[in-house]
Amino acid sequence: MEISHADKVFYPGEGLTKGDVVEYYRAVAHVMLPHLRGRPLTLRRFPDGIEGQGWFQKHPGEHFPDSIRVESVPRRGGGTDDYVVCDDAETLEYLAGQGTLEFHVWLSTVDAPERPDRMVLDLDPPDGTPVAELRAVARRIRDHYERAGLTAFVQASGGRGFHVLAPLDAKSDTEVVLELSRVLADAVAADDPDRLTTAQRKEKRGDRIFLDANRNGYAQTFVAPYSLRARPGAAAATPLDWRELGKAEPAGWGLAKEKQRMARKEDPWRDLDQHAASAEAALKQLT
Ligand code: ATP
Ligand code: MN
Ligand code: MN
Repeated sequence: MEISHADKVFYPGEGLTKGDVVEYYRAVAHVMLPHLRGRPLTLRRFPDGIEGQGWFQKHPGEHFPDSIRVESVPRRGGGTDDYVVCDDAETLEYLAGQGTLEFHVWLSTVDAPERPDRMVLDLDPPDGTPVAELRAVARRIRDHYERAGLTAFVQASGGRGFHVLAPLDAKSDTEVVLELSRVLADAVAADDPDRLTTAQRKEKRGDRIFLDANRNGYAQTFVAPYSLRARPGAAAATPLDWRELGKAEPAGWGLAKEKQRMARKEDPWRDLDQHAASAEAALKQLT
């Protein structure tokens, strides 16, 4: 595929161009695509690089070619919305060529939008939080998941925090999954209320780490594994083995390192669907 303006600088601090970005997505497609396939996407596009104008794009551009899969998904409150779905390397490359730096995915697929097959807790730390503490919170979340019969997977967000995800059997409704995620977040926060909070209002959080369950609501997204971030550093959202967490930073690895890493390493999240569990059963266990 011919990429226009491949020399345009997208990450000035790292001297990385649009061509480097497209090349990155080509290189990680084999590990990234399983996490995009079938899911409504929100694209975060920066056609002039991270210092130019950027926006979250929920719906397909009018000029997108017919080869790009578009699916209509029910909208809460009636009607439908069209979303781009990325099932293959050609689409990934095309979207990267359109200046998409970040790919955000739903926790359900277009075939069953109201039956999430993922649940995620997003750890949002205040400035100055030691990374060791953040790692310990991620492990604490894993313990709570396991007690509820869920298998926990962790990723560095490529930004400031970690995401702890559990695969689900896609048999429970969004509301059950959202309730489960809130019960879990509250239980984790109750272990250490001086340091952890689930308060929706920022003023109430103080200097505590926010355990964000809101990603589990209908039509909400989280950043897809291996997506770059549109921030200085050109970091990628990075799935981790639990034993890698001890040395991982929330910013994960930069574009070049991530590309090298995934050329020789298997995806730490490759077994996700083999561990799919029931949200309903987990909720019963906890309440
Ligand atoms: P960090 O570790 O720095 O918090 P993050 O990816 O977790 O990185 P958040 O700000 O916590 O970033 O947001 C969580 C997720 O919410 C994002 O990854 C994205 O999928 C979604 N999101 C946030 N803002 C928007 C928005 N304006 N439009 C669409 N989705 C959004
Ligand atoms: Mn976050
Ligand atoms: Mn958040």
